[in-house]
Order: sequence, then structure tokens, then C-alpha cells
Amino acid sequence: IEAQLRQAQKMEAVGQLTGGLAHDFNNLLQGIIGSLDLIQMQAGAGDIANVERFVQGALNSANRAAAMTHRLLAFSRRQPLDPRPVATNPLILSMAELLRRTVGESVTLTFELAPDLWLTLCDPNQLESALLNLTINARDAMPDGGNLLIRSSNMDAGAIKSDNWSEAGGGQYICIEVADEGVGMSPEVLEHAFEPFFTTKPAGRGTGLGLSMIYGFARQSNGYCDIRSEPGQGTSIRLYLPRHVAALQEKAGQADAVLHALS
Ligand code: ADP
Repeated sequence: IEAQLRQAQKMEAVGQLTGGLAHDFNNLLQGIIGSLDLIQMQAGAGDIANVERFVQGALNSANRAAAMTHRLLAFSRRQPLDPRPVATNPLILSMAELLRRTVGESVTLTFELAPDLWLTLCDPNQLESALLNLTINARDAMPDGGNLLIRSSNMDAGAIKSDNWSEAGGGQYICIEVADEGVGMSPEVLEHAFEPFFTTKPAGRGTGLGLSMIYGFARQSNGYCDIRSEPGQGTSIRLYLPRHVAALQEKAGQADAVLHALS
């Protein structure tokens, strides 16, 4: 029954997404049709000034519709996952410079990496873009600066306390946490944060795709992602990815990777 419920909730989310998009798209089309109608009338009457105004209106709507389909295509054309054994600490350390530059000088970025972190099995490129996205979100949430903590740890699923992760019955995971001291999320934002195209950022700054893609990546990697957030206090986003137990040969390679990242 739980699985059916989850499936139903998923279908509802997909329905809401496509319904919402169809609605927005229809509004834009109505705008274009209305403008064209008016142009036809005004052109007949020889009113050039108004014709120009309505042409501009139609163009604006058409451009917004095109941008919407662009984002939708980019979303559906996501790279297929290429899961591999990943040593997450070296991956994080290799991004340290990029992440520092991303947050700028007003944000203090600290790493707390478990020294004996397990390997995980996931697509390292997707993990990198997830970390970058989370860091950008954290920076945007701290316009006046603050502390940003990126932490890795080993976790038994039983120890994972999540309101909506019923699978957390067994198994072992690594946890990557990105915790900021920013504006936090209101209950409404928290409720919709994982939905594709949900954004509170001004047009052109946010796509609303970051968290939904991270959620999709986590679930497709047989992991999970959850958000804890307090308005005015900050936000902590945790990415759980399943432990991978390496064969002997793999371990030698991973040790090399660790040494390389530390040197
Ligand atoms: P985008 O960043 O393009 O808006 P996301 O899917 O990454 O898209 O995030 C959706 C929304 O969730 C953001 O617009 C913002 O309101 C909220 N959000 C995400 N991360 C944070 C954070 N660290 N602190 C506060 N709010 C956040």
C-alpha cells in the first residue's frame, strides 16, 4: 500500500507539472492570438502605432513560450546516468576551489569530511553538478554572507531520521550535507522546493530545476535527498547515496585517487 501511495503521489506531481505547464503555455498562446487579432483589426484601420504595440506584445509572449520549451527540453534531455564507484571526499576536494569561487568572499566555506568515508555507486558528473547547485542555492540564501558547511559521513539507514523516507529500513549510505545559515524556507517553499520549475528567484536567475534534478539523481541512484529548513535560521540539504563495497582491485585504484586529491 505504501508503494502504491508513493506511486500515486508521483503521478500527481507529474500531472501537476504537465497541467501547470499546459496552463502557462495556453495563457501565452491566448496572448499571442489576442495580439494577432488586434493587429489584423488595426492594420485594416491603418493605425500603425497600435500595430507596433501589439506586435511587440505578441513577440514577448512568443519569446517566453520559446524559453519555456527550451527549459523543458533541457530538463528531459538530461544526460543518462553513468554509475561508477565514487570516492566522494576526493571528488569534493577536487571541487573546493570552484566552490570557494562560487560562494565569494562573504561566505566562509568549511569542509568536514569523514576520514573513513565509504565508497558510493553513482554518476560522478551528476554528483558534481548536485554539489555545485546546492552551493549556488546556499550562496543565494546568504546575500549578507555567513557560514556554509559541506559535510560527509557514513550512515546506517536505521539512523536516518526522515519524515518521508519509508525505505530507510536497512542498508548503508553515505551522507553529503550542505548546510547554510541563510534565509531558510517558509513551509510553502519547503513543500514545493523539489518540484520542477518551482522557484522564488527573479526571472532569469532561477530555473527551479536544481533541487528537482538533485532529487531525481538521488532516487535514480537508489538514494534519497531531504531538506531541513528554518526561516531566518538556515537550510540543510542531505544527499544519501548507497554504500558500494569495492572489489580488491577497485580499492587500490581508489587509494590512488585519494592520495592524488590530497597531494
Ligand atoms: P532555483 O535555485 O533555480 O530557484 P531550485 O530547484 O534549486 O531552483 O530551488 C527551488 C527554490 O527552493 C529556490 O527558488 C528557493 O526558494 C528554495 N531554496 C533552494 N535552496 C535553498 C536554500 N539553501 N535556502 C533557502 N531556500 C532555498
